[in-house]
Amino acid sequence: MEKWMKGCQQLSNDLTPMMVQYTNIKSQYSDCIVLFRLGDFYETFDDDARYASKVLGLVLTHRSDHPMAGIPYHALDIYLKKLVELGNKIAICDQMEDPSMANGIVKRDVTRVVTPGTLIDDGILTDANNYIAAFYKNILAFVDISTGDFLIEYSMESIEKYSPRHVIHQGDLSPIDGIFMEKVEDWYFDSKNAGQTIKDQFKVSDLSFLELTKDEEVVVSAILKYLQITQKRILKNIRYPLKFRKNERVFLDSSTISNLELIDSKNGISLYSYMKRTVTKMGQRLLKREIVAPLLNKNEIEIRLDLVEKLVKSKSLNLLRDLLSNVQDIERIVSRVAYPAATPSDLVALRESLELFDGINGWIISNGIFDDLKVDTLDDLRELLERSVFKEPSGNVGDGKVIASGFSKELDEERSILSDVGGYIQRYQEKERKRIGNKVKVGYSSVFGYYIEISNGYKGEIPSDYVRKQTLVNSERYTTPELSEIEHRVLHASERIKLLETEAFESICQEILKNKDVLIENSSKVAFMDMIATFATIAIEEKYVKPVFSDELKIIGGRHPIIEKRVGDFVANGLEMNEKKKFIILTGPNMSGKSTFIRQIALISLMAQLGSFVPAEEATLKIFDRIFTRIGARDDLSSNKSTFLVEMSEVATILHSATQNSLIILDEVGRGTSTFDGLSIAWAVSEYISQKIKAFTIFATHYNELSELEKIYPDIYNLTIEVVENEDRVLFLHRVIPGTADKSYGIEVARIAGIPYGIVNRAYEVADALASASQIERGVRFLTAGEVEAIKKKLKKINENQMKFF
Ligand code: ADP
Ligand code: MG
Repeated sequence: MEKWMKGCQQLSNDLTPMMVQYTNIKSQYSDCIVLFRLGDFYETFDDDARYASKVLGLVLTHRSDHPMAGIPYHALDIYLKKLVELGNKIAICDQMEDPSMANGIVKRDVTRVVTPGTLIDDGILTDANNYIAAFYKNILAFVDISTGDFLIEYSMESIEKYSPRHVIHQGDLSPIDGIFMEKVEDWYFDSKNAGQTIKDQFKVSDLSFLELTKDEEVVVSAILKYLQITQKRILKNIRYPLKFRKNERVFLDSSTISNLELIDSKNGISLYSYMKRTVTKMGQRLLKREIVAPLLNKNEIEIRLDLVEKLVKSKSLNLLRDLLSNVQDIERIVSRVAYPAATPSDLVALRESLELFDGINGWIISNGIFDDLKVDTLDDLRELLERSVFKEPSGNVGDGKVIASGFSKELDEERSILSDVGGYIQRYQEKERKRIGNKVKVGYSSVFGYYIEISNGYKGEIPSDYVRKQTLVNSERYTTPELSEIEHRVLHASERIKLLETEAFESICQEILKNKDVLIENSSKVAFMDMIATFATIAIEEKYVKPVFSDELKIIGGRHPIIEKRVGDFVANGLEMNEKKKFIILTGPNMSGKSTFIRQIALISLMAQLGSFVPAEEATLKIFDRIFTRIGARDDLSSNKSTFLVEMSEVATILHSATQNSLIILDEVGRGTSTFDGLSIAWAVSEYISQKIKAFTIFATHYNELSELEKIYPDIYNLTIEVVENEDRVLFLHRVIPGTADKSYGIEVARIAGIPYGIVNRAYEVADALASASQIERGVRFLTAGEVEAIKKKLKKINENQMKFF
C-alpha cells in the first residue's frame, strides 16, 4: 500500500510541471482548442476535453484531476477536419525536442493555429479554393494559403463570389451562415505599421508597384498579420494582392450571382457545376473564379474565343485534355513545399507533372497556338527530381526509402551498412553455433536490441565473453562485444540515414522553392489551357456557337444551357435589341417560360464574356459593363424581413449603378406588394431605365398593363410568349414572339392544376367584376400616351437636364 501511494505521489509530481506547461500555453491560446502532444497522442484537457469528447466521440479520462481526451497523432487530420468544420480555432502544440533526449520536461510549443480559413492539409481541403478574408471599410481581402492566391474586392457583395470559410473583422459585421466570423483585436487593423507588415511579407522596400490605397494597405496587412500569428511563420507562397479592376472585369453583385445560379443552385445545377468539365484542380479553381468575373475587354475576350475555336477544330483536343489531366495540383504542392509541409508524394506528383510539359508544349506548337502559352519545362528541376527521389518512395522521410540510390554517396554507404547487417548476423550466428551448438539463435528485439539466445536446455559452459542481457522463462539472452559493435553500427547507420535523407529532402525542396515563381506561372498556364479546352469541349458536346460582338444584340435560336438539359424538347428562342429597341417588356402567362428566357439572355452574354462559345445558332452580342438580374419578392413566410423592402433596395442599387452599357434583367419586379402599388412602381422604374439610364433591359412581368409603354416610348418593345388556345385548354409553346399577352391565364393554370370546374368558372366571373370595378370605383387607370407627353413637356421646362418622372 505504501509503495502504491508512493507511486501515485511520483506520478502527480511528474505531471504537475507538465500541467503547468499546459496551463501556460492554454492561457496564451484561450480562444482555441489546444491539442497538446503527449507521446503518441494529442491530448485535450478540461473544457476542451469535454467538448472534444462530445463532438468527436472520444473517451473522457482524467489526469491529475483534469478531464482529458486524446486523439492518436496519426489520425490528426480526421479529427482536425471535424473540429474545423464545426467552426473551431485549434492550436496544435507539439513537442519541440525528442522526448528521449529531453532533460526534465519536454519542451512544447504551439506550431500553428488552424482555423476554417487557414488550411494547408491535403486531407482536410477540398479541390476548391479555401479562403480567409479580412474586412475593413467595405474592402475585402481574400487569401488562400493552400494556393497562395490573394485578391482584393470592394464590396461585401463579393463574399458571395468567393465564399470564404472565415472572415476576420473589427466587429462591424453580423454573422453569415456557414462562415466563421471572427472579431479580432483592433491592432490588426492599425494603419501605422501596415506598410511595414506588407514590406516584410514580400521582402520589398517599396510598395508603390502594388498600387494600394491607405485603406487597402490596412486590410492587406491585417490579413497578413493574422496569418503570421496563426501560422507562426511568413508564408512564402502568398502572391502579391490582385485588385479587382472595374475597367477589366464585370462586377457582379450578389443577387445577380444567386439569381443566375452561377455558383450555387437551390435545386438544380449551377452554371459552374454545369461547366465544370475541367481536368485539373487548377483549371477547376480558375473556372470558378472567372465565372463571377467575366471580361470587359473585347480584345481579351476574342483571344479566348479564337483559342476555343482552334481547339474545337483541332483533331487532337482529347490528347491535350489527357495530357493536362495528369498534371497534379502544382499550386498546392508549391504551397506545401514553401510552408514547409511537403511529403515525398508531393515530389513525385511534381515530377510526374513536369514530365508532361514537353508533351504539352509539343501540342501547343503543332496546333499553331501562340508561344505565350508554352510552359517552362524546368528541365533541371525535373532531372533533379528524377534522380533524387525513388519511383515509389515511402511516405516517411528518414526511413531510407525516399531518396533514390546514387543521389548521395554518404546515404548509399549507410544504407549498404544496414543491408549488410543481415549477412553479418547470419555469419555471426553460424560462427557461434560452431562454438556452442545448433540451439543458439541470434535475434533482435526493438527494446533490447541484438541478442544471442540460449535455451535453458543447454547444459554446456557459457563462454566468458557472453554478457547476460535478459532472462526469459525458457531461455537466457546474452550479448557479446562483437554483437554490440554490430548493434552500434546499425543504430548509427539508421541515425545517419535519418539525418542524411532529411537533409537531402530539404535541399530538394529548396531547389523547388527557387523555381516557385516559374512553377506558379506554369500552373496558371495549365489552368488557363484547361479552362479553354473545357470551353471547347462544352462547345462540341452541347453544340454551341462562337459569338461575335457589336453594339447590337441579336441571338438566333438561343437556349438556356441548363434548362435545355432538363426538359427534353427545349424551344430555342431568339432576340434582337439595338438602339431603337433597348427595353423589352416580356409578358406571358405563368409557367410559359419568361424567367427561363430572360436568364438565358443573361447567361449567354456572361458566357461569351468568359470567352466561351454560347448555346445558340447565331449570337451577335454587346459587351456589357455590368449584368444585373432582379427577381420580384415571393411571399416568404419563413423570413421576417420584408422581402419587398429587399426587392426595392435591390432595384435602387440598379438605378444607381447601371449605365447605358449594362444589361438589366428584371423578373416580376413589383410583385412583392399590392397589384396597384407594384404596377405603378414597375411602370415608373421602366420609364426611368429606358429614358435615363438607357441600359439594355428585359422586363418579364405578368402586369400586362406595362405593354402600354410601347405606345408611349419608341425604344420600348413588347414581346410575349405564344399561347395556343383551343376549346378546352391552353397550350404554352414557350416561343417568344412580338406582342402582348392578352390575359394572364392564371385561372387557366388553376384549371390545369385540377381546381374543380365550378370554381374555375366562378373565378372568371369574379375576375371580370373586379377588373371593371377597380377601374371605375377606385379611379385607377393608366395614363394615355397623350397625357404622358404633356407631363414630359411640362417637366422638361422645369429642368432641361434633370428629367424625372413622377
Ligand atoms: P415563367 O417565368 O413564365 O412562369 P418559367 O421560365 O419559370 O416560366 O418556365 C416554366 C417551365 O417551363 C420551366 O421550368 C421549363 O420546364 C419550361 N420551359 C421554359 N422555357 C422553355 C423552353 N424554351 N422550352 C421548353 N420548356 C421550357
Ligand atoms: Mg417566372
